[in-house]
Amino acid sequence: MVGEGILKGLAETARNFFGSYVSKDRLTTVQYPEQRVPQIEAARSFPFLVYDGEDWQQGMRCVSCQICEKECPPKCIFIEKSKDKKPDAVGKPQFYPARFDIDISVCMSCQICVEVCPFDAIKMDVDYDLSTDDRFGGLLLQKQQLAKSNQYYNAIHPTEAAAIDARFAEERAKLEAKAKAAAQAKETAAIGAVAAAQPESVEAQ
Ligand code: SF4
Ligand code: SF4
Repeated sequence: MVGEGILKGLAETARNFFGSYVSKDRLTTVQYPEQRVPQIEAARSFPFLVYDGEDWQQGMRCVSCQICEKECPPKCIFIEKSKDKKPDAVGKPQFYPARFDIDISVCMSCQICVEVCPFDAIKMDVDYDLSTDDRFGGLLLQKQQLAKSNQYYNAIHPTEAAAIDARFAEERAKLEAKAKAAAQAKETAAIGAVAAAQPESVEAQ
């Protein structure tokens, strides 16, 4: 039936309005900004950049691949790639963003940047109190404003952040095991070379 959805919505509103006089469960509004509804895990506002550890510049996961910049539908991400490299979240040397800005006056919170990021470096925030009377620069968030810790990410999206932490720990362990095996192989080869050289020196005597 045409308009059935609207009628259902109005009926629910009426139920809550009249029901709120007799039941607290039907009182679905709060006195904002003094009171706030707790954020659910799936809530999202605008993107932020995740960093690991204490130092936001050193720990930033973004490797400046610029995929998010290319895929962002309204083109509100602006990135400049660094000239040098630093270790990424699992210890591999990677480029980093010398500049990373997001114009949240244009961002439509679609989350495409998050979906396409191969490094779990950009995630959706739940912070929504971002209005400003500076309609130009005030809503152009720069790298330092966008950088938020992994602890913060764990606090707002605990399930997905824990899964990513576990995957990074596994990758780090694999890299460490690989480096250890390479060091051992080098050491064995060096011992072998010394052993191979010894009989000749004995024969020469
Ligand atoms: S959420 Fe969407 S619009 Fe906003 S920066 Fe990401 S891709 Fe662009
Ligand atoms: S946030 Fe992700 S997709 Fe965007 S540049 Fe950084 S690493 Fe690449």
